[in-house]
Amino acid sequence: MEAVPSIAQTSILCAICKKKLVVRRTCYSAYLRCECCEKDFPLQEYIKDMDPALEEFLESINCDRI
Ligand SMILES: [Zn+2]
Repeated sequence: MEAVPSIAQTSILCAICKKKLVVRRTCYSAYLRCECCEKDFPLQEYIKDMDPALEEFLESINCDRI
C-alpha cells in the first residue's frame, strides 16, 4: 500500500513568520508544515489553534489517529 502524503491548507499561522501553515499527513502521522520556513511542527503544538480545515482534515484520516 502506498503512503501518499495528503496536504491541506489551514488558516493557522506559523509562530515564526506568521504565514499560513499547511497540514500534511502520511498513513502514519500528521504534522503542520510552514513552506516559508521549511519547518515541520507537531500538531500538538498547534492543537489549541485548530481551525475547521484542520479538523476536517484530521477527521478524514482513517488509518491512524492522533
Ligand atoms: Zn514560517
